[in-house]
Amino acid sequence: MNTQDTYPSAVKLSEETIKFLSNYEVAPTPINFSVIYYYLSKKDEKMNLLLDEYISWNGSLDAVFIESIFLEFFSNSEDVEKVFFTPFENTLTSTIEQLERQAINGEQITKNFKKADRVLANSDQANSLKPLVNFINSTLIDSQQQHSELACELEKTYKQVNQLKSQLKASREEAMRDSLTGLYNRRGCEEKLKDLTLESTHSSVSIDIDHFKKFNDDFGHTIGDKVIQRVATTIEEHISADDFAVRFGGEEFMVVLANKTKEEARNIAEKIRIAITNLKLKKKNSNTYLPSISISAGIAEYQEYQNWKSVFEVADSALYQAKHAGRNCCVVL
Ligand code: GH3
Ligand code: MG
Ligand code: MG
Repeated sequence: MNTQDTYPSAVKLSEETIKFLSNYEVAPTPINFSVIYYYLSKKDEKMNLLLDEYISWNGSLDAVFIESIFLEFFSNSEDVEKVFFTPFENTLTSTIEQLERQAINGEQITKNFKKADRVLANSDQANSLKPLVNFINSTLIDSQQQHSELACELEKTYKQVNQLKSQLKASREEAMRDSLTGLYNRRGCEEKLKDLTLESTHSSVSIDIDHFKKFNDDFGHTIGDKVIQRVATTIEEHISADDFAVRFGGEEFMVVLANKTKEEARNIAEKIRIAITNLKLKKKNSNTYLPSISISAGIAEYQEYQNWKSVFEVADSALYQAKHAGRNCCVVL
């Protein structure tokens, strides 16, 4: 399917798709509709072969199989938006517009025929021509009705496609996040790094909670998890919308500070460090406070000749030095 699909072929394919689905008693959901539309447009030999084989073996078609085709050929593709949803949406939009225009034209023609009908009523030839006028009139009304039903179906499908697109966007976004803290995960980090222009100065801060193993041993993993969440929130509270924080490992974080020098990054890291030592963590259902926690941080600035992996390595070396310097401090390299 592509954006150059012409209107007549798009309408023909849409109609054939609906007919095809109803022949096999499969509902015209966006996924079913899209897969079969694509199948009928014969754009992918491999996909068509699979569908043909399935139909000839089973003598029927079902939504579960269509969904497996969708997953295999569309939803795993990085370009699903570009190769599938956008062209499909464009085709639907133009089809709907065209149908609306036709419906208006159809209405106009019907009005003209009614006028002609009235004129004929007063004419001598009325009796001989009347059946013909009636026939044309009723044909027009039928086709007008068919058009508006199809337009209505397509409008519904169009809405469902939009819904599917936003679900896809949400699940893509979710796959970039760490479930415990909501910060970006490593995969999300890679995606976010692509947005940064490398001509500017950026910095990164590697953060690790101090003596966390002991904290876990003393208070248990569940409380440990809550601490990780509080540290994550504190980090987020201190960074701006252009920056982003990543949970790199268990209690290790990487913060990317966009358009900031390492000195600016150190100021932010210091604020985060102090805020974390000031956190008052109370045990649930009790009045006892947990011992205060601290983090160590290492800061590095992106250099033109580097890639992000090596910037993170420098930040990690700085963090290592901060641990050796006694923890609860920031080191810039
Ligand atoms: P250091 O100051 O040198 O960093 O000491 P540390 O004890 O924090 O050492 P390290 O960073 O190597 O310890 C990581 C510990 O973090 C090990 C494990 O008990 C804990 N941990 C890792 N992932 C999780 C997690 O998801 N939840 C919880 N509760 N604990 C975790
Ligand atoms: Mg640690
Ligand atoms: Mg660690």
